[in-house]
Amino acid sequence: MEKHILFIDDSPTIRSSVSFCLRNAGYKVTEAIDGEDGLQKMESMKEETQSLSLIITDINMPRMDGITFILKVKETEFKFVPILVLTTEAEESLIKKGREAGAAGWLLKPFQPEQLLWAVKKVVWSK
Ligand SMILES: [Mg+2]
Repeated sequence: MEKHILFIDDSPTIRSSVSFCLRNAGYKVTEAIDGEDGLQKMESMKEETQSLSLIITDINMPRMDGITFILKVKETEFKFVPILVLTTEAEESLIKKGREAGAAGWLLKPFQPEQLLWAVKKVVWSK
């Protein structure tokens, strides 16, 4: 079955370039524009939680940031879906916060397609 990834970022440019890269590699991608939108998109996947293989989220976003989003996901039936962070934030304390919230990995922008696909493969397959 096709692996399904939820990708969340408030930048339309990043959303289209990352989604293009993931779809090109054979993944099915659902896009969301911020944490709030991400949770809403997940509502409609509730009946089939196992069909979501991975979530990739930005940190700085309006309405709901990435850390808050991760903490919320961990309270839902999607808590076992691995979450990767893709952000410009490289601050140690924030990375630590992300790890404590339950992120499986932290990747830095500008996004490198090979690096992203390697991390995605690693997380998706170790599930
Ligand atoms: Mg952002």
